[in-house]
Amino acid sequence: PLPAITGGIRFNQVVFEYEKGRPALKGIDLDVRPGQSIALVGHTGSGKSTIINLLSRFYDPSRGSVVIDGHDIREVTVQSLRSQIGVVLQDTFIFSGTIRDNIRFGRLDATDEEVEAAARAVDAHDFIMKLPSGYNTEVEERGNVLSMGQRQLLSFARALLANPRILILDEATASIDTETELKIQDALKVLLKGRTSFIVAHRLSTIRNADKIIVLDHGQIKESGTHREL
Ligand code: ATP
Ligand code: MG
Repeated sequence: PLPAITGGIRFNQVVFEYEKGRPALKGIDLDVRPGQSIALVGHTGSGKSTIINLLSRFYDPSRGSVVIDGHDIREVTVQSLRSQIGVVLQDTFIFSGTIRDNIRFGRLDATDEEVEAAARAVDAHDFIMKLPSGYNTEVEERGNVLSMGQRQLLSFARALLANPRILILDEATASIDTETELKIQDALKVLLKGRTSFIVAHRLSTIRNADKIIVLDHGQIKESGTHREL
């Protein structure tokens, strides 16, 4: 198990092949300190999602290792690893149920007060209260009660409530209005605070705010540094 991890992450010479002889990652070295936020950028097919897949152990490296707090993640059970890693995907998934259930997903023990506190922290409380039944409003998986921006804020509230040490975020590419964009930026700051994070970043604001930007190209790190340095 990984008790109370600090969230430091290393990739040591990581090579990964989905198919033999066609490496998607070609020797990635990364050193991420606890609490740092990393923005992964690069063209389609450059390996961004693959890095995230290895970190959450959907796959193991073909060569090299992924190390969290000094432990090769292959030595840790997938269950205990995943309990420390929160994932917010691009199609921020909403299931059929109430708004409250959707936020509480992954922290079923959370009280109503905790759910509301998480929603307030990411500024989702006001729009929730304007829904017909507030937190008890029923939403559908593919329903259109919620806008893309609202779905995003709900998924942030959910991740905040789960409180993982490491956060993986595949940023949505969907275009949203400027006001929602600013709201999401602020919510993201709240969510990232004190966590190590890997963000597949599409928004310039996210890239600018990251502690380190990793530019991937054909499975290799082409450049890395802060926005100022690059
Ligand atoms: P995008 O911006 O389109 O999401 P990405 O940077 O996330 O791209 P990856 O999904 O990591 O890119 O893909 C890296 C390489 O691995 C690509 O050549 C891709 O075709 C290949 N690849 C990804 N997933 C698989 C898979 N499940 N099976 C085989 N090859 C895969
Ligand atoms: Mg991808």
